Amino acid sequence: MTSPSIAWFRDDLRLADNPALRAAIDRGEPVIALYVFDEESPGIRAIGGAARWWLHHSLASLDERLRDRGGALVLRRGPAERLVRETVTEVGAGAVFWNRRYGGPEREVDSALKSSLRADGLEVASFAGSLLHEPWTVRTGGGTHYSVFTPFWRACLALPAPRSPLPEPRSILGPTHMPPSDTLDDWNLLPTTPDWAEGLRETWEPGEPAARQRLKDFLEHDLPSYDRARDEPSAGATSLLSPHLRWGEISPFTVWHEAVGVEGAGGFLSEVGWREFAWHTLYHSPDLASENLRPEFDAFPWPPLNPAHLDAWQHGETGVPLVDAGMRELWRTGYMHNRVRMVVASFLVKNLLIDWRLGEEWFWDTLVDADEANNPFNWQWVAGSGADAAPYFRVFNPELQAKKFDPQSLYISRWAADAPTEPIVDLGETRKVALAAYEQVKRAP
Ligand code: FAD
Repeated sequence: MTSPSIAWFRDDLRLADNPALRAAIDRGEPVIALYVFDEESPGIRAIGGAARWWLHHSLASLDERLRDRGGALVLRRGPAERLVRETVTEVGAGAVFWNRRYGGPEREVDSALKSSLRADGLEVASFAGSLLHEPWTVRTGGGTHYSVFTPFWRACLALPAPRSPLPEPRSILGPTHMPPSDTLDDWNLLPTTPDWAEGLRETWEPGEPAARQRLKDFLEHDLPSYDRARDEPSAGATSLLSPHLRWGEISPFTVWHEAVGVEGAGGFLSEVGWREFAWHTLYHSPDLASENLRPEFDAFPWPPLNPAHLDAWQHGETGVPLVDAGMRELWRTGYMHNRVRMVVASFLVKNLLIDWRLGEEWFWDTLVDADEANNPFNWQWVAGSGADAAPYFRVFNPELQAKKFDPQSLYISRWAADAPTEPIVDLGETRKVALAAYEQVKRAP
């Protein structure tokens, strides 16, 4: 009688540097690779449309890679806690392994499962797979967590170096009888009526091999110009690794170790550090997507929502060229350059006076890299309500930003050549209104 090991895949859709998969293989019993799609999601909300598209292709790639090595992926849909338990019983599993998640509701699911499976006599272990440093290990001298990035990252750099990535398994002992599995098509993750994913297909190749190739290309060709050109949206100087990191197709340990020895990689690695900081912040503030990190911002007098303004922003029809270019890039490709994300977010919050939470939700639905920590963290950063945020009174001027970072209008003419040219609001006037509203935050007790 065998007692298979379950490797429960979550946001770690890869074979290389996957400690949970490694533990399952090393246990020596047949391995069942399980993915549970919880449509209700224990996290902040169900994943958005662009993320569903990515997930479909990433799981297809993972399944193929597992099969090539003797394994296969079992797909189940529904609440994870119940389905993991059901699968354990069905296959007579003796052990379950996973890589940790850091959102509050996910941690609750995982710790309840850990206790109940252990109580039933199973071996259960969880591993560090998605962050270079576990959130409870980076502490100030006073024993609290950091709320400012620079000292946070300095402290991370002073810790022992992140562990080396684990090699990819060459073969996997699959079960003699595969338990029943949904098919990916059953889940309807891809858009059909209408099929709006053409721009995503043109832009991206989800899956671990493409993630590895992206890192290699970036380090060979783009890294030398990264520090100089990373703020220019038409330069193509950034890594485009964000969706691959979001879905765990490549681990930050792999990124770290391949980049750290390369000359001039410090700036790039500190961006990976912002990802760490956002996740650590989520770990310590699980309500990051709904609550202002700085509670005094609760006093901000948001005016009643103007739905026409929100709609114009979402569809790149504001008449402000850099904003419209960014929103159209997002709509078409599921991605937007970081500098432009800051500009469109500032415009929504500080020129249209629309609550950052509505911007966060739109990004959540449209970004292929939409991520439970990075997205709300950065929205709060731009809004001024967040950790180590840009001061509220620093309002990005989209016209000056365009002059500085897109001086030849390459980005704007690529994405917004036919956009309206009459701004829906006056930039100077709305800025004044926003600053006056901010005075109420300053006066808050
Ligand atoms: P690179 O410059 O090559 O950076 C390398 C990696 O570092 C990225 O892949 C990403 O994992 C990480 N990183 C870079 N900048 C940041 C940052 N500011 N915060 C956290 N991590 C960072 N990033 C997401 O991954 N998911 C999101 O949902 C997301 N939402 C955002 C919302 C707003 C309003 C803003 C201003 C930024 C948001 N970002 C988000 C951060 C950033 O814009 C993207 O990570 C970056 O544009 C991805 O491109 P890249 O991989 O080429 O980045």
